[in-house]
Amino acid sequence: MEILKRIEELKKEKNAIILAHYYQNADIQDLADYVGDSYFLSEIGRDSDAEIIVYCGVKFMAESAKILSPEKTVLFPVHGDATCCMEHQATPGLVEEMKKKHPNAKVVTYINSSSEVKAVSDACCTSSSAINIVENIDADEIIFVPDQNLASYVAEQTTKKIIPFDGQCNVHHKVTLKNIESLKEQHGELEILAHPECQKEIRDISDYVGSTAGILKYARESKKNELIIVTEKGIEHQLRKDSPKKKFYFPHMICSPMKRVFVESIAEALETNKGEVIMDQRLIEKAKRALLNMHKYAGG
Ligand code: SF4
Repeated sequence: MEILKRIEELKKEKNAIILAHYYQNADIQDLADYVGDSYFLSEIGRDSDAEIIVYCGVKFMAESAKILSPEKTVLFPVHGDATCCMEHQATPGLVEEMKKKHPNAKVVTYINSSSEVKAVSDACCTSSSAINIVENIDADEIIFVPDQNLASYVAEQTTKKIIPFDGQCNVHHKVTLKNIESLKEQHGELEILAHPECQKEIRDISDYVGSTAGILKYARESKKNELIIVTEKGIEHQLRKDSPKKKFYFPHMICSPMKRVFVESIAEALETNKGEVIMDQRLIEKAKRALLNMHKYAGG
């Protein structure tokens, strides 16, 4: 408990705020000032008076916070490599190749991507804003990067031509119908809530498909007491806080890069600025353009 006290002192002394993604370990969520989806947290960081943002998540999230708040110190308190697998799949070179093949297309990039890929994109999107952005951006052909499952989810709901990049979240993509059926066999009548990073066969049998924040809201409001949740298991902590009487079942879904933040690494970062996110100013400006376009095109 000494260490928690020390973190509180350091936060006050240095005017710092701690942000944690829903997929973080429960102890990290509990000590954070805010818990949420990645982009929501970046906006919280930008809008707060804090001079230091401690971002507990994966690398692209900490970088998005830095892009939105370049004047602030962003600390990324991780042990080892904490990058989302989709940050490695798409590269600026591969996106440029797709652009050459489809010169009339605009590039819409899921926020789960490297800053370098954002910098060569026309607009970013989140899982909840993807459909609106594709609908509102001024092109009939969209190169959708990097998640092929989110791309196919969007394609089902637009008449525009979606050209998907061949990437995926290794945690969501590997869930199979068999995994869900075996959970259904073990339990009674229940609802299935899935993230759009899941494959079509999972989305098709789900009662609800949406972002982590959307899943939390649906689960809170659902009349059913037993739900299968098809997204990363870290979300269970918030689900149980919101609805302690409900039962939640998960297929095996653990994102190991998300589990590389520790109470000790947060304390160390606050003491020494270890893990400070340093980004090239030109990269910040180019990636920011795509993030701001997300707001421009997100309206209904
Ligand atoms: S769960 Fe998947 S999309 Fe989310 S951070 Fe982990 S690897 Fe990336």
